[in-house]
Amino acid sequence: MSNLVYVVGLGPGNARFLTAQAQAALQAADVLCGYTVYIDLVRPLYPDKEVYTTGMTKEIDRCRWALETAQSGKTVALVCSGDAGVYGMASPLLELAQSYPAVTVEIVPGLTAALSGGAVLGAPLAHDFCVISLSDRLTPWAVIEKRLACAAAGDFSIALYNPSSRGRADYLQKAVRILLANGKDPQTVCGIVRSIGRAGETARLLPLAELENTPVDMFTTVFIGNAATRVLGGKMVTPRGYRGV
Ligand code: SAH
Repeated sequence: MSNLVYVVGLGPGNARFLTAQAQAALQAADVLCGYTVYIDLVRPLYPDKEVYTTGMTKEIDRCRWALETAQSGKTVALVCSGDAGVYGMASPLLELAQSYPAVTVEIVPGLTAALSGGAVLGAPLAHDFCVISLSDRLTPWAVIEKRLACAAAGDFSIALYNPSSRGRADYLQKAVRILLANGKDPQTVCGIVRSIGRAGETARLLPLAELENTPVDMFTTVFIGNAATRVLGGKMVTPRGYRGV
């Protein structure tokens, strides 16, 4: 009996972003479990594996299913995009696993969108940075506002996850206004990357003032530089220090 759940970060896109550790976990699993879109990314590599897919917002159901299935003696790989610990399934799974003492959980890290998207743009996160999600599905908007204000006041480079979705099309605009009101310069170099590592990947650089009126969707990660960030040869480059600012 294996009684094991791997929580596997797949990276941003297709198989070339899988770590060797992730590939080994997927290979070792009896069953792959996750949101349909992510299962579809890895299914071609493991066509014979049993799969269990659910809709995007069914995280808790998925965790319970994974734990129940592991308890029955199988090895389960619960998959997430990017890193499993960054707005992913690792923490809900570990919380629920308290009720399944016979099950062992192993977290397998993956390449998170801040890093894969950062590489597309250049080196936007080369100094201190924050990662902030604009999703208020599980976090009160007041908390998000406070973190944006503090990140701006500290002149951190920022990677914004979940910058938009149906029902909150203007959240990026609201976020940019908070950053401007708390000390970010309107000319701060910013970048947006959509569908990192997937078909149709796009990226562009723009000043913060323009970002305020730029529509983005949920497949996008937004990067905001610090006061020293520059555009060099078409790349977004945050220096290692603040000399010259
Ligand atoms: N666990 C994931 C993040 C899940 S939250 C990770 O570590 O990357 C979902 C948000 O992540 C999206 O709204 C988007 O902002 C970002 N994201 C994840 N994958 C992405 C991709 N391939 N391209 C662009 N943004 C992505």
